[in-house]
Amino acid sequence: MIVVKIGGSILSDTLHTSIFDDFLRILRNDKIIIVHGGGNQVTSIATKLGLEQRFVVSPQGIKSRYTDRQTAEAYTMVMSGQVNKSIVTVLLKNGINAVGISGIDGAILRAERKRRLLVINEKGRKMSIEGGYTGKIDRVNNSLINVLLERDFVPVISPIALGEEFEYLNVDGDRAAAHIAGSAQADKVIFLTNVPGLLINGRLIEDLKISDAKRMLPTIGFGMEKKVLACTEALELGVREAIIGDGSRENPVSRLLAHESCTVITGNE
Ligand code: ADP
Ligand code: MG
Repeated sequence: MIVVKIGGSILSDTLHTSIFDDFLRILRNDKIIIVHGGGNQVTSIATKLGLEQRFVVSPQGIKSRYTDRQTAEAYTMVMSGQVNKSIVTVLLKNGINAVGISGIDGAILRAERKRRLLVINEKGRKMSIEGGYTGKIDRVNNSLINVLLERDFVPVISPIALGEEFEYLNVDGDRAAAHIAGSAQADKVIFLTNVPGLLINGRLIEDLKISDAKRMLPTIGFGMEKKVLACTEALELGVREAIIGDGSRENPVSRLLAHESCTVITGNE
């Protein structure tokens, strides 16, 4: 089983069309779960709705959307609506039996709402602010995913989680993919994005151990920092290999499975 996270950055138009052949080939003898992002699409539509989007940075250097109630609603509409359905339709058009669901459906993703957020303000000082509607994933229920997989459907999951009070919470797509991969005991989790992998001083880091990945986290720029963090989470949850790579190349998934110019993160042993 492999979990493929498709980033919003690559979704718009640059995803290589040969990805469908890749999927069909893999599906002959394996299962695929797709998790997607779509942050830019959320920002664009929320802004059109008159909701100015704000981003905050944690003391660990992780950037996230500040999600008030209205933003949580816009996030859910765009992620589970437009973004999810456009992925499902393009998969169906290419012969892949896709079903779009959100992390809320069948209570796949449960998360603890972050009541307070520790953020770094403009002056570089730590500050505690009202948490809003973001969550930290604490449980994954695979039953709906398994039902779909058994019937040869490809689940396409949007990153929304159910809070303790049954409110919907914005969760990060990369970390959602990591948790779903861990819970499904996937062999691999693959992050398709718009760069070849983790770049340090312009050089692609091809192999990384989890301990080095953790150590490097604070030095990695926004966007990639969450992928590397998600890779470490997936590995800690028992996934054997986490791969970050470019989705715009030909046969992107096969290439990454063959470790061609990408970042592969593995456990310490
Ligand atoms: P996605 O939509 O796939 O999640 P993001 O934009 O969130 O994509 O993350 C990928 C981006 O991370 C890249 O386009 C790049 O601009 C940025 N980035 C920041 N630091 C690094 C780094 N050290 N190596 C590679 N990319 C980086
Ligand atoms: Mg991202």
